[in-house]
Amino acid sequence: MMKILFFLALFPTISLAVDEVALISDSTVRARVMGDQMTEMTGRSSRSQVCADLLAPVPGETGTVPFAEATTALEKVVNSVASNYPTACINTLLQDLALITPTTPSIRRIISSLNSFDQVIWGSNAKALACTVQDSGIEQLLALAEDTTKVNDCQPLQNNKWKKVDGNAAYGNPINYSMQKNASGVRVALNIDFRQGAAAAAAGVAPVSNQLMMERTRGCMAAVHGLIKDPSTGLPLQFDLLTPAEANQLPSAVRPDPYPVTIDHAADVRSNAANYAHDVGCPTIVHEVLHLVGLCDEYPGEGDGRICRSVPKDNNVMSDTFEAFNASVPRTITCECTTPECTTAISLPGRTNFLKAPRRTDRTSARFRNAYCTTPTSLPVINWAAEAAAPPQSPFTSTLSPDGLTLVMTDYFMNPNGWDNIFGETIECSCPESDTRCHETMAKIARGEMRANTRECHFGMNDKSFQWGSTNEPDRVSGDTFSFSVNPGNIPLMHPRQVQRILAGTCRTAAQSYYDCAKNAYASTPDECEDAPEACLQSDFHDRP
Ligand SMILES: [Zn+2]
Repeated sequence: MMKILFFLALFPTISLAVDEVALISDSTVRARVMGDQMTEMTGRSSRSQVCADLLAPVPGETGTVPFAEATTALEKVVNSVASNYPTACINTLLQDLALITPTTPSIRRIISSLNSFDQVIWGSNAKALACTVQDSGIEQLLALAEDTTKVNDCQPLQNNKWKKVDGNAAYGNPINYSMQKNASGVRVALNIDFRQGAAAAAAGVAPVSNQLMMERTRGCMAAVHGLIKDPSTGLPLQFDLLTPAEANQLPSAVRPDPYPVTIDHAADVRSNAANYAHDVGCPTIVHEVLHLVGLCDEYPGEGDGRICRSVPKDNNVMSDTFEAFNASVPRTITCECTTPECTTAISLPGRTNFLKAPRRTDRTSARFRNAYCTTPTSLPVINWAAEAAAPPQSPFTSTLSPDGLTLVMTDYFMNPNGWDNIFGETIECSCPESDTRCHETMAKIARGEMRANTRECHFGMNDKSFQWGSTNEPDRVSGDTFSFSVNPGNIPLMHPRQVQRILAGTCRTAAQSYYDCAKNAYASTPDECEDAPEACLQSDFHDRP
């Protein structure tokens, strides 16, 4: 309410009315009619929440005036539709407004006035961002009114036709992309203008050219191709990252605006959508590109002062990015020996299969082990004869007790102090009888069904590089390095609702649930958090209606 009072104080005499009331020349009559309309509008919301009642015609000078027409005077919008009209009715009203041709310019003017006074009106609590949708009637009305000026926003994608999305900024990132549906999925075109950052490169940092960063970014988006799917068709979204010159080939009406991204050569840079660290990797790049198509952060925000962000129980790329990549994205891992003995070992038969085998840490989370398992017990060192391809013990075994309450997991590792030896560790995990989730997890591990996606280089070897994306390359030993690929199972990189938000573009109604929870992603004061819908504070918010 404070905001609205402040607003009226700023614009006490503004007149943008184009409805018939505004055309009444006798000011006394005009004031009476407007007063009657406001009393009627305000009174209605206490009598009914049904749109047909709320949006029924209001009294005019003679007879009645359509509701939409009567709301086009700014002061009436502020006073009468302020906070207590249901969203569905606001949407209906906006459709009505869009149908009244003469009122559209006035809505545009209202919006442009508001936009230019954004900071004054909302001050430091400004939430004028796509991730921070305004929730009161007037705020929503204005945001939605902006949408209605683009009549095609909610039109479904047409086969082989580009549709441009030009939306409110999401936490400072303009939402500006184009989509085209075709038989193999949906292309999402972005215009990325890489630039060199102003700061000098830190010592030892090799310069990354704009072209190189573009190639890297394209490679990263290609690595997740097939993991971002239209929930309604199951077909993939293909991200086409265009340079400004390439984007110029598109017709101007559907050409995405260039988005400048600087390449920062300073040391220890935390990348964001507009500034990439020179050594930024695929998980971060994909996360940042997805910000440009309207997705908001979903990792716990407290560390950054974002105190009521919705955080999902099932991880995704906007939440724990690295974890999500490990769980979903195929990759080739290259590991490096740090001793000559290791280099010899990887040249011997059977060793690479042993080295890359998933073990207990790939099948269970640290949380699970801390909650249910003992600390590991060491087993004696065993020699592995150089000529033998098969290890003397398999890298991982698990045994579930007949009552299902206890699981013993045994891992064997190569011994970095003498690579012709292996050594074992065993741990025992026990579930309380009542903990069915724990039982299920243990049974799955015992059946070999637990996904093993987090594989890293074997103890004693260095992680040399990660190449994201699927490959048919066989394992490869080259000198002191060993490369192998990991092809995770079908764990989603994103929640379908996030993809729905991308496809919805600026059509809010097509992704309302997403917006409802995303709007507080960057809220930083308790006041702002107050309006967080209860469902959004639950970790299953993405799965709720
Ligand atoms: Zn982010």
